[in-house]
Amino acid sequence: MEEGARSCLLQSRSSLEQDIRASYLMDHMISDGVLTGDEEDRIRSKPTRKEQAAALLELLLRKDNQAYISFYNALVRESYGDLASLLHNSLPLISPEAEKSFSDGGTRYVQAVLSEGGVPQRPVVFVSRPALVNRVREKLYRLQEPGWVTVFGMAGSGKSVLAAEAVRDHALITECFPGGVHWLSIGQLDRSDLLVRIQSLCFRLEQQSQEKDPSSSLHRSPGSLEEAKERLRFLMLRRYPRSLLILDDIWDSSVIKAFDIQCRVLLTTRDRSLADCVSGSKSEVAVESGLEEDQALEILALYVNGKPQRLPEQARSIVRECKGSPLVVSLIGALLREFPDRWAYYLHTLQQKKFKRIRKSSSYDYDALDQAMAASIQVLSDEHRELYIDLTVLEKDVKVPAKVLSVLWDLEPEEVEDVLQDFVNKSLLFRDCHHRPYLYYLHDLQLDFLAEMNRSGLESLHTKVVRQYQQRYSQGPPTSGDEECLYWFRFLTYHMAKANLTQEMV
Ligand code: ADP
Repeated sequence: MEEGARSCLLQSRSSLEQDIRASYLMDHMISDGVLTGDEEDRIRSKPTRKEQAAALLELLLRKDNQAYISFYNALVRESYGDLASLLHNSLPLISPEAEKSFSDGGTRYVQAVLSEGGVPQRPVVFVSRPALVNRVREKLYRLQEPGWVTVFGMAGSGKSVLAAEAVRDHALITECFPGGVHWLSIGQLDRSDLLVRIQSLCFRLEQQSQEKDPSSSLHRSPGSLEEAKERLRFLMLRRYPRSLLILDDIWDSSVIKAFDIQCRVLLTTRDRSLADCVSGSKSEVAVESGLEEDQALEILALYVNGKPQRLPEQARSIVRECKGSPLVVSLIGALLREFPDRWAYYLHTLQQKKFKRIRKSSSYDYDALDQAMAASIQVLSDEHRELYIDLTVLEKDVKVPAKVLSVLWDLEPEEVEDVLQDFVNKSLLFRDCHHRPYLYYLHDLQLDFLAEMNRSGLESLHTKVVRQYQQRYSQGPPTSGDEECLYWFRFLTYHMAKANLTQEMV
């Protein structure tokens, strides 16, 4: 059910519970096919009218737009006009026109499936790469049996954006993956982190399947990697047949082996040969490290609200200098949005290559990224620059809520949101809008850059995290089950270890 409708139901819940007689409404809903006989029996078994009403609403909240509309119509037919009017404004549109009305080409159905599966949204400034997207879709269409599609290419070349884009397609999802699309960010991690990731995926899948079928039970978290793998195999086979698992940014063959469970997988990686060690059909799509020139120019034009043809001559040179890297073009674009007359200056910055440093990976020319990052950080106010540098302490691929940073920076959550908005606007930080509250993260190339830049100060930055935490929670650790609490639960010891404060752990 779409967000507006759900929210309206929640707001009107107590009025509805007071008045409605579920048994009258359910007849209509059954004949509309949005309620089953079993569900009706379960609701009728509640002893009082009010409890029946509450149970019906609880069930309705887990259903789709169609169910909301059927419930609304039932209210009208049973002369609950005043209650129906509470729901009227949020009636979802389900005509074919409305289905097509999303600007990104996805339908409401696609949006709902992808959002449920945690697939990232498009970046705010986005250009399509139709040839590449089609190549990935074509491979996915051929994934009739369990197997693997590998999307490989350099860091920052746009693999994750491409993978998310490929599944933003109504026909592909309905024909090939009616069981849904499930996204898992991997990155560089050790066995215990991998276990945590699979545990949380299993938990998510079980929770969603329980919402659809309350008779299914939630299991305790698998305790070992082997157990987690078996749990996932069971879930994919029994509860989510014909679904697609997207594993984003895999580095290690031992990680991919944990997902060798006879399901359909799309993975993004820098290592082309990763899928060699697993069984099943395999295909691959190469992503060039840079965008075509006209696409990169389009990104710049979108940032400065202009037409690609009207960009100044330096635009082409900028694209050439960073070899069309989507990540770098986005950083420079965000800078130009703020300082539209600095084309020559940023070109010069990119060309200078004064910010040279040694990289472990020699396979790619990262100079352009370093220059773009250095320039972006330079235009931050002094205060914001200091705050941004604190982000060096984050672990790769870990997303944090603003509240964690409000502890680190000792600022009000609202002030933190403002600071983060500034970083997001400058493409220095990314926001995952699927979660409430929002979660924030850095691209791993950006974290590499920060780590390199602040190498000598790393220990004291981690010490700051620990001290700020101790100050905020001097009365006792956070106890709620929210994202902030989970963060400290998982990473406080990590910060202590990096700060060389392990003696304080005991
Ligand atoms: P990878 O997964 O290869 O490391 P990402 O997909 O995370 O790279 O892309 C890195 C960044 O480049 C994104 O955060 C975004 O800012 C930019 N980017 C990638 N693809 C596009 C695109 N098609 N249009 C606009 N920007 C893009």
